[in-house]
Amino acid sequence: MSDPRPIIAANWKMNKTPEEGYQFVRQLAVKAKELTGIRFIVCPSATGLHYIQEAAKDTAIELGGQNMHSAEAGAFTGEISALMLLACGCDWVIVGHSERRHIFHESDADIQAKIPVALEKGLSVILCIGERLEERQSGATESVIRQQLQDDLSGMESYPVERLIIAYEPVWAIGTGVVATPEQAGEAHAQVREILHGLFPALPSNEAKILYGGSVKSSNADELMKTPGIDGFLIGGASLDIDEYVKIAEISQLAIKERP
Ligand code: PEP
Repeated sequence: MSDPRPIIAANWKMNKTPEEGYQFVRQLAVKAKELTGIRFIVCPSATGLHYIQEAAKDTAIELGGQNMHSAEAGAFTGEISALMLLACGCDWVIVGHSERRHIFHESDADIQAKIPVALEKGLSVILCIGERLEERQSGATESVIRQQLQDDLSGMESYPVERLIIAYEPVWAIGTGVVATPEQAGEAHAQVREILHGLFPALPSNEAKILYGGSVKSSNADELMKTPGIDGFLIGGASLDIDEYVKIAEISQLAIKERP
């Protein structure tokens, strides 16, 4: 059975120097000793990873990259490979974040190319999907996430998909302060679970891990974590502040026990 603990993942985006990241992880490591019901994944910017891995060593904190290239090596100026992430102590990589999709114009084909490489090399993957505001407003949420999952995961039938987790991140909720309601998130997570089961029948649907992301804060973590089907959070803005991030973890550790 997979690890039942909620995952509280931090996506720092283009924030924090290596020293700031190192100090954060050192402080988090102390708190993580008490928060044994939580699984922490921290995704710093690439320049901090090598240094920060020292602070994460022998702690419960797992590290992840925020992106990677699908090629093993080569003439791809500015890019980072799976092997480079592994060499910096990463267990995880985020793929398909909406900022990669919409600001840097990554296509589903680009994203699809990365996932098997990450898994083959030994990284676990957080695949981000989610609809834009106009898609939700026009009732297209389910068809958008179905399309993303089908395209991004095509050809993956023989891969170790138990090392793949999905982050449902409605684009309209990322960095906006507008959070999905527990009903909206719960409904989308149920759809993701059903689509994943259709794509990978051998993966029991209760084993699939699905995180919610989009303006998670300590003020909304309780009701979201009490929502069945939400296995954790991917947190941007609120993960930059150690006190707020730890507070979300504390709230989540309690809330999961009160889930209906
Ligand atoms: C994210 O970047 O994945 C994210 C969810 O950001 P925020 O928490 O700031 O909305």
